[in-house]
Amino acid sequence: MTSKQQGSSTAIVHPAYEVPDGFSAFPAAIHHASTVLFKDVEAMRARSWLNKSTYTYGLHGTPTSFQLEGEIAQIEGGNHCVLAPSGLAAITLVNMAFLETGDDVLVPDNAYGPNKDQGAWLKRSFGISVRFYDPMIGADIADLILPNTKLIWTEAPGSVSMEVADVPAICAAAHSKGVLVALDNTWSAGIAYKPFEHGVDISMQALTKYQSGGSDVLMGAVITKDAELNNRLLMAHMRLGFGVGMDDVYLVLRGLQSMKLRFEAHDIAARKVAAWLKSRPEIAKVLHPAWDDCPGHDVWKRDFNGAGGLFSVLFDEKFTEAQTDQFVNQLKLFKIGFSWGGSHSLCVPYRIESMRQTWSAKGILVRFNIGLEDVEDLIADIEQSLKAL
Ligand SMILES: *Cc1c(COP(=O)(O)O)cnc(C)c1O
Repeated sequence: MTSKQQGSSTAIVHPAYEVPDGFSAFPAAIHHASTVLFKDVEAMRARSWLNKSTYTYGLHGTPTSFQLEGEIAQIEGGNHCVLAPSGLAAITLVNMAFLETGDDVLVPDNAYGPNKDQGAWLKRSFGISVRFYDPMIGADIADLILPNTKLIWTEAPGSVSMEVADVPAICAAAHSKGVLVALDNTWSAGIAYKPFEHGVDISMQALTKYQSGGSDVLMGAVITKDAELNNRLLMAHMRLGFGVGMDDVYLVLRGLQSMKLRFEAHDIAARKVAAWLKSRPEIAKVLHPAWDDCPGHDVWKRDFNGAGGLFSVLFDEKFTEAQTDQFVNQLKLFKIGFSWGGSHSLCVPYRIESMRQTWSAKGILVRFNIGLEDVEDLIADIEQSLKAL
């Protein structure tokens, strides 16, 4: 393309680059694009971004993001996937696609905090009725469904307090009244829980967590089986302009290669740490779905296949918040920070009473994310900090 007659700017804009013929490697190529090129006007006019049979504009994706969408849909057991710039943006996408002024949505009281906060905002500013329900309600959710109820959010387990909701029972009640069920399936990474086998209509993932695995990317996904639901999500996605960066997409594709092995390693280590904590007099209760004192343990045993690295404990009520804060501060390997699913262990205390409409358990709640360090080192770290109490 470069020639002696062209100026240097033209030469830079039209370098002699073509995808190397005969080159082959494992990774999906990172295709960056805002502008996507059409070979002629007919092809431009025939574009169809909605069914993704052609490429249209960077906002609707490139071969790189189509690849990630396909892989996430496959893990989750769905047919379609739409990417969003964060897990919270994926929640927004579901709310914007399926709710309008005058509608009613039910959100579990133990849902991811910003999901509840978005609900309060939808109510205040957009005329949508948002009601919070007891996550252990099961089939009785039927009594809460109103003629204008359009959507029921579920999350199993809740990512702080760990109750495992009976999602199939909620789905059965919802479907008998024509209501859609969305699941925030982030805790299971789509590995330990297959949402569409249990009646869920719309599954949402914060790819920020296990899919990335690197504590360095924000991304979300909404997965469906039904083409019509996917179309509504795509329309909302287009109207909101929720594009994702292809370098970030690449990092998630890279993370997926090892996700199942990492998830299993987190799971094994977390159960060891939780079992050790359970034996300690300072800890009143271990809130881990694999323990039978975790609400919803039976549902977890029935429907889940694994647990990952996230769980919480309740300290004995004789410990004050100042003491449990000191416990967290004095940990050395465990760092203080939100999110999870990365290789580093984290520990966060929660003021759970202020997050919930109802919360009766006593004792300060502290959440652990067990990373990929040696379990013995993690237990030794917790032990030294408990001893200093
Ligand atoms: C982290 C998280 C989200 C939000 O993901 P971001 O990418 O951080 O916005 C949503 N739900 C759950 C359960 C999460 O843990």
